[in-house]
Amino acid sequence: MPTNADLMARDLKVLWHPCTQMKDHAEQPLIPIRRGEGVWLEDFDGKRYLDAVSSWWVNLFGHNHPGISGAVKDQLDQLEHVILAGFTHEPVVRLSERLVEITPPGLTRVFYADNGSSGIEVALKMSFHYWQNQGRSRKQRFVTLSNSYHGETLATLAVGNVELYKATYQPLLMDVITAPSPDCYLREDGESWEDYSARRADDMEALLAEHHEEVCAVIVEPLVQCAGHMRMYHPVYLQRLRAACDRYQVHLITDEIAVGFGRTGTLFACEQAGITPDFMALSKGLTGGYLPLCAVLTTEDVYQAFYDDYATLRAFMHSHSYTGNPLACAAANATLDLFEREDVLGRNRMLSAHLKQALAPLADHPHVAEVRQTGMITAIELSPDGTRHTQYDWRERRGLRVFRHALTRGALLRPLGNVVYFMPPYIITPDQLDFLADVAAEGIDLATA
Ligand SMILES: *Cc1c(COP(=O)(O)O)cnc(C)c1O
Repeated sequence: MPTNADLMARDLKVLWHPCTQMKDHAEQPLIPIRRGEGVWLEDFDGKRYLDAVSSWWVNLFGHNHPGISGAVKDQLDQLEHVILAGFTHEPVVRLSERLVEITPPGLTRVFYADNGSSGIEVALKMSFHYWQNQGRSRKQRFVTLSNSYHGETLATLAVGNVELYKATYQPLLMDVITAPSPDCYLREDGESWEDYSARRADDMEALLAEHHEEVCAVIVEPLVQCAGHMRMYHPVYLQRLRAACDRYQVHLITDEIAVGFGRTGTLFACEQAGITPDFMALSKGLTGGYLPLCAVLTTEDVYQAFYDDYATLRAFMHSHSYTGNPLACAAANATLDLFEREDVLGRNRMLSAHLKQALAPLADHPHVAEVRQTGMITAIELSPDGTRHTQYDWRERRGLRVFRHALTRGALLRPLGNVVYFMPPYIITPDQLDFLADVAAEGIDLATA
């Protein structure tokens, strides 16, 4: 069997890794993973790492889960793939029925893409095209929030707002209208999350009052802007936004790609505001972290605006080769089985309360500005003076120091800039959370000393 060193050497000759300055790997070892089991990843030298970030937020029930692996293997013996135009198959029908059932009322149609960014592009195109089909051809623009993230293809970068990913490509991107994020890290001292998010809703209302005639849709990540440093906001914002979109005839697109399937404490984040969007995108956890798949749900109203005789050319002529792949749908159905069979959300409430307790001492750390939590997402933001008013220079890469320390202790805690966060698989135990809290505390001491 090869060693870590063998595989790393071969890899660095031929691969180009995502979201990576490859030169970093002149110093920072690349870690070849041989197998996964539950929360653990094991490398070729036999060292184990606790996957505290669910392998980029996709994994829900652990690696190599017998139920999901079994379902994919069974499906493999039946049908690996078939074109989804003019043909269909049981896993995709069953999955669509179930998604319509469990998502907020009013979402009745499911369109598939094969990754999150493509799914967001589907929602953007459908919204734009809907207004064209309705004769509202002036509606051509999208409203987005500052600090938002919706993927990395050109249209999704355009509606996203994280400078690190976007700035270079600005000349290639469509023009969007940006509203200030309800992100509560920016609240005044003494101001509640609810009051701050409500103030930002005032801004959004004013913006839509002015621009609604040229706007197709507002796109948001409900409750947590994950790639934007795990910044969080109050559900009141979503309620106010839904009402404003209704008032001004603007679609609401909620991107639940990262926050869906229980991450925020409810099955879908929108539930906490009691709203139904016009489009909802689901990916990442949809297949339990097994295979790429994105579902875009929409309403009967949107569907009907495209339903007509062929020659009217109103159809949504969008496709991806692997649309509705049966193996991915089988993994998704097996994932939904687990939500049905076990009280996942109840256990998660216990786990997030436990982690909150374990991290409580860090709130007083001299270089921790905030420990925040929404459901199963918990983030620790570092700052030079321990307040929300100062920031470490990004070039110091403080978070990276925490990451490196965690690796030596057997934990995968990949940070976002100066934010250390936990988004673990739901099968994690309280003891394992204690271990992660200890590792993070040690790492933060080292990184801020
Ligand atoms: C990850 C993510 C995407 C993009 O999904 P990909 O499958 O990586 O293209 C879009 N929106 C949000 C909120 C995400 O977290």
